[in-house]
Amino acid sequence: MTIRFDNRVAIVTGAGNGLGRVHALGLAARGAKVVINDFGGARDGKGGSSEAALKVVEEIRAAGGTAIANGANVTDVEQVRAMVEQTMAEFGRVDVLINNAGILRDKTLSKIDMADFQAVVDVHLMGSVYCTKAVWDIMREQNYGRVLMTSSASGLFGNFGQSNYAAAKMAVVGFMNALSLEGKKNDIRVNAIAPVAATRMTNDVLPEAMLERIKPEQVTPAALFLVSENAPTKTILSAGGGVFTATQLMDTAPVYISDKELSPEALEANFAKIADWSNARAYADSNAQVQALIEEAIKCMQA
Ligand code: NAD
Repeated sequence: MTIRFDNRVAIVTGAGNGLGRVHALGLAARGAKVVINDFGGARDGKGGSSEAALKVVEEIRAAGGTAIANGANVTDVEQVRAMVEQTMAEFGRVDVLINNAGILRDKTLSKIDMADFQAVVDVHLMGSVYCTKAVWDIMREQNYGRVLMTSSASGLFGNFGQSNYAAAKMAVVGFMNALSLEGKKNDIRVNAIAPVAATRMTNDVLPEAMLERIKPEQVTPAALFLVSENAPTKTILSAGGGVFTATQLMDTAPVYISDKELSPEALEANFAKIADWSNARAYADSNAQVQALIEEAIKCMQA
């Protein structure tokens, strides 16, 4: 085991079940002191009890590891602040944050009510924001931090009936993109994982035969790599069933249309060329993308 978390402190949200539980067990097995956060609600985010988090703490302690339970609801900024205070009082630092807590309220946009849309955005996006904000200055002062967002293929590629979930899961990627830049100076690396695994979240949405092949234990190694000392930053890894891919936003090669020709019709005529992915490229940040556009415009205007 060359990837270790000795003397590191990790907070894993939603660690009472599913993927979060296995991430927490993995961190503890490699030496981390782990805060097991879970508000213990149902899949749709209703209800709540401290039982799920306490069970995982017991499991870690029984294996000789160190863990404490925390029942904060990640959508409550005060409870999140108290969770980080509890972590600092108990362990004195926070090195790793895995934003994993999640709920589902699937409905098409025409059928969904706004409360169900909001609840999903609150947990996935605002929960990640509140938790990251609460540890950010601690990580900056330490000059060390690893933050993982939990995204989803649903957000990255779209899924019927999940507009709330997809919007939130793509939003955490935007959050990661900006934070990976803001964190660089203080060695804070921010990544995202798009998992696929059999959990209570997927047990009735994926076929039985598929569920047997996709265990949370096959996702956790990617999560642990993405919060390890030598982790990359601003990386999205998709992980499921032992298969891994990197996902990235790409831009096609720039196409210039002169002011004289510029019209919606010119866009229609050039659309196939603009949307030609054969020379697609990624950019380090938004400035690089904007600069590429402007440089192309200047080059073409001068030609
Ligand atoms: P899960 O339901 O087994 O676990 C989610 C945990 O989050 C639960 O224990 C729940 O109590 C906790 N939680 C929910 N809302 C919370 C809140 N407000 N505060 C604190 N804890 C809260 O689901 P899972 O499949 O393990 O999902 C984990 C993460 O992975 C989620 O973000 C989910 O969207 C994401 N994800 C899972 C899959 C998959 O295939 N299982 C696919 C894509 C993304």
